[in-house]
Amino acid sequence: MGIRNVVLLSHQGAGKTSLAESMLFSAGAIQRLGSVEEGTTTSDYDPIEIERHIGINLSLLPFEWKETRVNLIDTPGYADFTSEVKSGLRVTEGAVIVVCAASGVEIGTEQMWAAVERLGLPCLLFVNKMDRDNTDFYNTLGQIQKKLGKKCLPAQLPIGAQSDLRGVVDLITMKSYFGFPVEEKEIPSELEEKAASFREKLIEAAVEIDDALISKYLEGETISDEEIFGAVKQATLSGKLVPVFAGSALRGIGTQSLLDAIHHYLLSPEETTIIATNSTGEKEVVRPSIDSPLTSLVFKTTADPYVGKLSYFRVYSGVISSNSQVWNANKRGMEHIGQLFTLLGKNQQPVSQLGAGDMGAVARLNLTTICDTLCAPEHSVVLAGIDFPKANFSMAVYPRTKTDLDKMSTVLSRISEEDPSLQMRRDPDTNEFIISGIGDNQLDIIKEKMRRKFGVDVRLDLPRVPYKETITIATKAEYKHKKQSGGHGQYGHVFLELTPLPKGGGFEFAEKIFGGAIPQNYIPAVEKGVNETKQEGILAGYPVTDLKVTLYDGSFHSVDSSDIAFKIAASQALKKGLSQGQSVLLEPIMNLVIIVPEACTGDVISDLNTKRGRVLGMSPAADYSEGGEESSGRMVIKAQAPCAELLRYTIDLRALTQGRGDFVMEFDHYEEVPSHISQKVIAAQKEHQKSA
Ligand code: GDP
Repeated sequence: MGIRNVVLLSHQGAGKTSLAESMLFSAGAIQRLGSVEEGTTTSDYDPIEIERHIGINLSLLPFEWKETRVNLIDTPGYADFTSEVKSGLRVTEGAVIVVCAASGVEIGTEQMWAAVERLGLPCLLFVNKMDRDNTDFYNTLGQIQKKLGKKCLPAQLPIGAQSDLRGVVDLITMKSYFGFPVEEKEIPSELEEKAASFREKLIEAAVEIDDALISKYLEGETISDEEIFGAVKQATLSGKLVPVFAGSALRGIGTQSLLDAIHHYLLSPEETTIIATNSTGEKEVVRPSIDSPLTSLVFKTTADPYVGKLSYFRVYSGVISSNSQVWNANKRGMEHIGQLFTLLGKNQQPVSQLGAGDMGAVARLNLTTICDTLCAPEHSVVLAGIDFPKANFSMAVYPRTKTDLDKMSTVLSRISEEDPSLQMRRDPDTNEFIISGIGDNQLDIIKEKMRRKFGVDVRLDLPRVPYKETITIATKAEYKHKKQSGGHGQYGHVFLELTPLPKGGGFEFAEKIFGGAIPQNYIPAVEKGVNETKQEGILAGYPVTDLKVTLYDGSFHSVDSSDIAFKIAASQALKKGLSQGQSVLLEPIMNLVIIVPEACTGDVISDLNTKRGRVLGMSPAADYSEGGEESSGRMVIKAQAPCAELLRYTIDLRALTQGRGDFVMEFDHYEEVPSHISQKVIAAQKEHQKSA
C-alpha cells in the first residue's frame, strides 16, 4: 500500500479541523462526524482545545483511501503555535492549504504559503466554506492568483453556490460529483463551457512539464486522462502548478475529490530523496525502502502526568518494531522501544511494526527528545532536525503557594520538552523565573497546562527590567562605626574612594592601606560589606555596577574592632559615596532587527520613536517568496531601544503589521535612564517593595 504524508495548513479558522474530520469520515476511519462547535472532532481533543475552539497541537490522523495510507497532520493556525507547523512541515511530502471562501487569502494563508514555497513542498489549495453566504469561487480564485500567483489553477469547479452548493466538477475526468457520499454524474449543461475553458488552462500549464506532451497537445492529438493526471502530478511536484479544489468541509462536498487529489498528485515517500549525516560527518543518501537499515525522526513529544512521555516519529527507511532496541544517533546511546502504536487523534492502536514512510508513536523513551534520530545500531546517521522559531516573548512566573514553587521548575521542564520553542531561565539580576516563547497566547496556555495537567498554579507577569545603578562623578566617603558605651564596644572606620568605570566595566574592589591604618585581617570584612551593599543600590535597590571602590584609609581599636564593625562601616561608607557620587539608574538597551512589509515601515518606525528607539539602518530584505505580486518587498530595520519599552514588542509588532512582521532582539549595553523616567521607575519600585 502506498503512503502519503500530508500537512494541513491555514490561517486560523479556515476549516482545517473540520476538513480533516470530513476526510476521516469519508475514508471510514471514524463512524461519526464530529464538530468543532461541539468539541467532538478527532483532531482537537485536548480539553484546552475544546474549550477555546482552537488547535494548539498538531495531530496525527492516519486513514486509508483507495489503497493509499494517508498520514494527515492537522496543525494549529495561530502564530503562537508555529513550532507545531514547523514539525508538520518537516515530516511530510506534501501540503494542503485551506483557504476560507468568505475571508479569502489571509495573513496566515500567506505565511503558510511562504513556508511551503521555501521548502519547495508540493501543495494543493482547498477553497473551503463554499456553502456560506456571500462566497464566490471565482472571486476567491482571483484573489488567490493575485496574491499567491498565477500557477494556482482550478482542478475542480463548484456546482451551485452558497446554500445551493451541490457538488464539484472534476476538470480532468470531466464528470460531476454530487453530494456526500458522492454520486458521479455528467456535467450540468450550464457549466460545460466554463469547465472546458478551465480544463484547457489546467492542461496547458501541466503539459509544459513534458516536451513530448506539449507537442502532442499543440498538434491537437488527444491526451488521455492518465497522461493528464501524470502531467498535473509532475507539474505539482516541481512547484510549477498548484491545483485548486473547492468545497465545504461541513457538508462533505469536495472532500472525496480532494482525497483523490492527494492520492494522485502528491509524492509517495518512496519517491523522495533523503539526506542524512553519517558518523564521520559526511552527507549520505538514505534509500527510503523497508529493506534499508532503520532511520526515523522524532518530531513531537507530549508530556502527560499519567501516561508519561509520548514520542511521535516518522520512519524514513527500514522498519521499527515493538519491543526492540534502536540507536539514538544524537544522544549516542541505545534506546528501548516498547509498544508501538499509530494514533488517531488521542486514540492509540497498538502495532507490531511500522515501515519506511510511515508514522507512529511510542511511550516512555528514556534518552530521546524531539528532533533525535533513532536508527539501526550498525548504521548510525543523523537526520536534519527542525528549525523552531525563536522565543521572543517573556513572562515572569510566580508560584501561588510553596507547593507550587517546589513543583514549578520540574513541571516546566516537562512541558518544555513538548514545546521546543519554550525556554526557561532564572534571571540572575532580578531573580525572577522567566519563561520565553512565541507569544502571549502560548504562554497563557502553558500556564493552563501547568494547572490542569500537573496541578501547579502560577501567575504570569511581565518580567521586571534588570535596571542597575552607577555613579556619575568620582568621590570619597568616610564612615566611622563606633559604639563604645558599656560592655564590649564596636569600632570600625573606613575611607573609600569611588571611581566610575567605563560602561560595561563591572565592579572592582581594591585596597591601598599604608602603615597598618587597618590591620590586614579586617580587610576581607570591608570587602564583604562593600559587596553586600552594592547588590542593592540606594535609588531603588538595583545592583551597582561600573564602579571601582578603593579602601585607602581608616582606623581601628585594639579591643573594640571586629569584622562586623568594619563590615558595617564599609556598607555605610559606600551608601554615602553612592549618594555623593550622584548615582543614576542604568537600563538595558536592546538591539533589534525587524523585518516588515515595506508598507508597514512608516508605522513601525514611528512606533519605535514612541518607544525611545533609535533607527540605525534600513535595507530591503532578500525576497522570500516567488510568484505572488504582493508578497515581496520586505524591509529590514535595525534599531536600538530600551528593554523596558520592548516587553510587549511581540504583541505590538503583530498589531502594527497584522502579524506580518518578525524580529529578533538581543541585549547590547546599559545606558543611563533619562531622569523623568528614572523618577517613575524609582516610585514604582518603592510601591512594589511596599506591597511585597
Ligand atoms: P481550523 O481553525 O482551520 O481548524 O478551522 P475549524 O475546522 O476549527 O473551523 C472554524 C469554524 O469554521 C468552525 O466554526 C467550523 O464549524 C466552521 N467551518 C469549517 N468548515 C466549514 C464549511 O465548510 N462551511 C461552513 N459554513 N463553516 C465551516
